[in-house]
Amino acid sequence: MNAAASDELLRERVIGIAGAVADPEIPVLTIADLGVLRDVAVDGGRIEVSITPTYSGCPAMNMIALEIEVAVEAAGLGRPAVRTVLSPAWTTDWMSETGRRKLKDYGIAPPARAAGRRALFGAETVPCARCNSADTEKLAEFASTSCKALWRCKTCLEPFDYFKCH
Ligand SMILES: [Zn+2]
Repeated sequence: MNAAASDELLRERVIGIAGAVADPEIPVLTIADLGVLRDVAVDGGRIEVSITPTYSGCPAMNMIALEIEVAVEAAGLGRPAVRTVLSPAWTTDWMSETGRRKLKDYGIAPPARAAGRRALFGAETVPCARCNSADTEKLAEFASTSCKALWRCKTCLEPFDYFKCH
């Protein structure tokens, strides 16, 4: 096998391993689900992983970088360099369909897609994460973390978290 081909194989393995690292705030989501894993480059066996933070100043990012290093090293692939890429900024539109479904199963309303957003003038509508009712109200801009808002459903009367658009 030539060097370029073995780099490509290594790259695919690292994408799988790094992508499977769980988000520290929402452990049901991987960083691949979130779209936080941006790229993996391998050159002559040297690995560089690029990640983009979901929210600027998100303290979870240091933990994610460390977990990527540990996971790749534990697989016997050597220690990768982890690079944080701030531009272009992360957007909730990078979240995969799998990620959105997992988020909803976890009881958090997934972020609306850019095309379906009606966030102007406070007219944002978030369907209930439990019963899908559109009759909901925002209780608080910030829930357990700054990435989420607290909403309440007027149909099933349950409060739920909403992963805010960004
Ligand atoms: Zn409901």
